[in-house]
Amino acid sequence: MKPKVAFFEFTSCEGCQLTVLDTLQRHPELLEVIEIVQFREAMSERGEDYQIAFIEGSCTRPSDEAKIREIREQAQIVVALGACAHLGGINAIRNRMPLEQTREYVYGDKKDWFETYPARPLSAVIEVDAVIPGCPIDRKEFATAVTHLLQGRKPAIPDYPLCIDC
Ligand code: SF4
Repeated sequence: MKPKVAFFEFTSCEGCQLTVLDTLQRHPELLEVIEIVQFREAMSERGEDYQIAFIEGSCTRPSDEAKIREIREQAQIVVALGACAHLGGINAIRNRMPLEQTREYVYGDKKDWFETYPARPLSAVIEVDAVIPGCPIDRKEFATAVTHLLQGRKPAIPDYPLCIDC
């Protein structure tokens, strides 16, 4: 039986998910060995039964935290997809400034309408089983990670920084 896979995004530019889509187009054979049940960028179905979760983006709101924990409870394997999920990424630049100043800059006089707090990596909220680093991720490394997961191995992707806040 093919493992069921879901993709999720939190605060991010979605560039890592686009890289995944590009990889799947170039390597359609990957779609023969996994079943994607949720991937907002590519399909409208929202399957909640999955074993592997790829999560893009950093946690920046209390509601993100609740959803990330929910995904962790469902998935046997959680993979941080890209620098935002792995390290906070470009979102974490704002952590260098007072939060109120950032909120005012972004939302102006509507700043109290939006819940937000300093950007955090997934690992600050849940246990993460594997990481695909990069901003964005590398296509070959995503394909390698999927292959390793199918072999029952923890993806062995070298961890190296690629963007400003990493
Ligand atoms: Fe976008 Fe880079 Fe974050 Fe990926 S790691 S979602 S490419 S900002």
